[in-house]
Amino acid sequence: MGSDAVIIGGSTAGLLNGVMLKHHGYNVTILEQFSGTRDGYDAGITIGPDVKSFLAKHDRVQRPFALTCTPPLKFNIQGKPRLEHKQTMVMTCWALFSKILRVNYDGTTSTAVPVAPEPSVTDGTVEYRSGARVTGVKDVGDRVEVHYEDTNSHVSTTISAGLVVVADGSTSSIRKLLAPDIERRYAGYICWRGTISESSIKNKEFNENYSTPTDDGDLDQGKRLYNWVWYMNLPENSSDIERLFTDVNGKQHQGTLPRGLVRPENWEKQKSLALSVLPPGLAEVVSKTTRPFLTRIYDVTSSKIIFFNSKLFVVGDAAMSIRPNVGMSTQLAAYDCNMLERVIEGKITPSQWEKVFLRYKYAQRRFGLTVAAYGLRSKFTAVWEGLKWLLLLLLQKVGIK
Ligand SMILES: Cc1cc2nc3c(=O)[nH]c(=O)nc-3n(C[C@H](O)[C@H](O)[C@H](O)COP(=O)(O)OP(=O)(O)OC[C@H]3O[C@@H](n4cnc5c(N)ncnc54)[C@H](O)[C@@H]3O)c2cc1C
Repeated sequence: MGSDAVIIGGSTAGLLNGVMLKHHGYNVTILEQFSGTRDGYDAGITIGPDVKSFLAKHDRVQRPFALTCTPPLKFNIQGKPRLEHKQTMVMTCWALFSKILRVNYDGTTSTAVPVAPEPSVTDGTVEYRSGARVTGVKDVGDRVEVHYEDTNSHVSTTISAGLVVVADGSTSSIRKLLAPDIERRYAGYICWRGTISESSIKNKEFNENYSTPTDDGDLDQGKRLYNWVWYMNLPENSSDIERLFTDVNGKQHQGTLPRGLVRPENWEKQKSLALSVLPPGLAEVVSKTTRPFLTRIYDVTSSKIIFFNSKLFVVGDAAMSIRPNVGMSTQLAAYDCNMLERVIEGKITPSQWEKVFLRYKYAQRRFGLTVAAYGLRSKFTAVWEGLKWLLLLLLQKVGIK
């Protein structure tokens, strides 16, 4: 490992690792294919213990960014709420969280975070290259070459570093190059997601459950957003999938169809369905949403995440995707980063990192499959998935897995 690093992908996992490595004195370059201003999907993310411990160590702006929500409610078909369990949830939104990471990385300010933190003399240098699509990586002895092209000019460039972190998401093209046998499989369902302003909800039972701040960091009651997710089974290659994932411009989307691009006739149809099948309060929340978005759910399970003699690490959704039903992907991206920090600090070896990482992720993956089966499949499937999860935990405990 050297004192410079290249990170492929500049979203959640990329920025988390960028901030961490910079604070450890690494000179970091993030290569992100997207150019221009990034819009969040306007949906909530759950803050777990690893996000909190990451921020306690690495966030130098310390602005409030999360809301503690009252315990989730379950509604019966008449719309009467029932408390399911007692734990609270800490929620924020992706765009606000990204802005906090970004200002800590390279001082980029925003309405949400208008003042950049003072750099420390021990920090490394940083760069965020947008519009840089990575096309290949190559082991060249004690360094890794990273090839990328400018998405506007199509000019190709090569840089190299002693450490490369691959954080290019669940569709990872770099993972495909390194481990072509790892498949990305459609999970058999999609989700509609959206937000509405808290103040526009008549049914007060819904307030403060699953509320998130706005992209600009507004946490005040009434201004913040109510966040909902609606999962639906849909067979692969069905005409409904094709219809729903064709945007207003006629373009097909594989993963997420972002806000503003859902065809109005599709949304009108979904709202009618909401009014006919959902309990009244929920139907109100869904049908008042003006900019929903859609995501197709995929499974990715890697069995190898370190390459090139421990100079290249695959993290975040690129390494393993966990069903969104458990709301863990940001927490898991922070977990990967905190564990990689232990490698950087010399507290664990890269192969220990890989072992612990895969063990934890396999368990989370099984848990996600159980929760998803509970909500979307038969009781039998949920019990079966639950048993497989418990068996895995047992085998992990006795050291067999
Ligand atoms: C714009 C955006 C908005 C989001 N909004 C929400 C939200 O509101 N709620 C929510 O729950 N989750 C949201 N997410 C998803 C969430 O960030 C991730 O699922 C999760 O946190 C894991 O993050 P990740 O960094 O591993 O993967 P991702 O967030 O998928 O990031 C992967 C990044 O790599 C880049 N990339 C891919 N291929 C290449 C390449 N070849 N070269 C260079 N760059 C590449 C992508 O453009 C992307 O920025 C959003 C993601 C994005 C990109």
